[in-house]
Amino acid sequence: AHPVYANLPTTVFEEMSGLARELGAINLGQGFPDDPGPLAIRQKAAEEVLNGYNQYPPMAGLPGLRQAVAGHYGRTQGLDLDWKTEVTITSGATEALAATFLALVQPGDEVVVFQPVYDAYLPLIRRAGGIPRLVRLEPPHWRFSRAMLEAAFTDKTRFVVLNNPINPAGVVLPREDLELLAEFCLAHDAIAICDEVWEQVVFDGAAHIPLMSLPNMRARTVKIGSAGKMFGLTGWKVGFLCAAPELTHALARAHQFLTFTTPPNLQAAVAFGLDNPGDWFTAMPTGLARSRDRLAAGLTAEGFKVLASQGTYFLNVDLAASGVSEPDRVFALRAVTEAGVAAIPVSALYEQDPVTSILRLCFSKGDATLDGGIERLAKAR
Ligand code: PMP
Ligand code: GLN
Repeated sequence: AHPVYANLPTTVFEEMSGLARELGAINLGQGFPDDPGPLAIRQKAAEEVLNGYNQYPPMAGLPGLRQAVAGHYGRTQGLDLDWKTEVTITSGATEALAATFLALVQPGDEVVVFQPVYDAYLPLIRRAGGIPRLVRLEPPHWRFSRAMLEAAFTDKTRFVVLNNPINPAGVVLPREDLELLAEFCLAHDAIAICDEVWEQVVFDGAAHIPLMSLPNMRARTVKIGSAGKMFGLTGWKVGFLCAAPELTHALARAHQFLTFTTPPNLQAAVAFGLDNPGDWFTAMPTGLARSRDRLAAGLTAEGFKVLASQGTYFLNVDLAASGVSEPDRVFALRAVTEAGVAAIPVSALYEQDPVTSILRLCFSKGDATLDGGIERLAKAR
């Protein structure tokens, strides 16, 4: 076997979804909604396949979508992106991440990364020759301090990768934390790579603040978004890469050799959705918050200790505080095989010194699925 590929593990999301499919379990693991997503957007995608242009779109993305992305971020986050020089469409945020790491990270560059870490970051950073410097976040607040950043940033730091809102923590970082990180980026002349795919999935009046909007960060931030998360269409894999012209130029060079482009009907349909959102961006989080509350109340009634979730599709259970002495991975494997419910053991998202007592549950599901999940988790306990 080729040593490099053999060393890459199967991601925990596929491992758990695979087990759920095989065992017919309720899947509260991998994050995707039961809801089919906005009908008008799906209709637009179908119409475009039947009547639209189905050949290669331009490498940077359909102009209509790039304009729609710039318009959306202008309206919702006060950003002033020039669609022609600062917006690139990718095949999901995953490709945007790959293009960013492969385009920018040079061998030996240090990259500050927070744990728990989204599964794609570290393999890609290492493949580009980067050296991850890990900052360990822990429950229940999952926030970083000045001392933690001081320990991670060095004179070799070139990048920091920030996922905000944070998957799996369910945290939406407040302005003061972003200001602290920006201070370190400026002091170390580092570029921030911001994975903001959960930006529209925030609850209870929490506001997502893009790091790019902080003073002096505009030119040194790469902002990554995902239509999959914005519209609950996770299989579509339409991503947005936003950065100042010089960075965008470099990112586009990597993107052209990764996928070059993204299906035109999906791009046109996402543009339609961004230009005609109706009440989606308020109704979607309102509905999700209701599901979160249903899951939290049901689990609490069964004696589980749940942590706060201000954003993302995820609610975390503190197993140790719930009287479960098994590590999260042991409990998760037993829950899926014996009780028929899949969840994500958060220790899988740490590379060093894992927190081993947190189970991540996806709540973007119908009531019956959530209720079944609660019952089965109680049985596993
Ligand atoms: N980053 C984070 C933090 C995510 O949670 C996800 C998917 N859930 C992605 C990136 C990947 O997004 P996409 O499906 O658009 O590739
Ligand atoms: N981002 C999704 C999650 O956190 C999973 C995406 C994937 O499977 N790659 O559940």
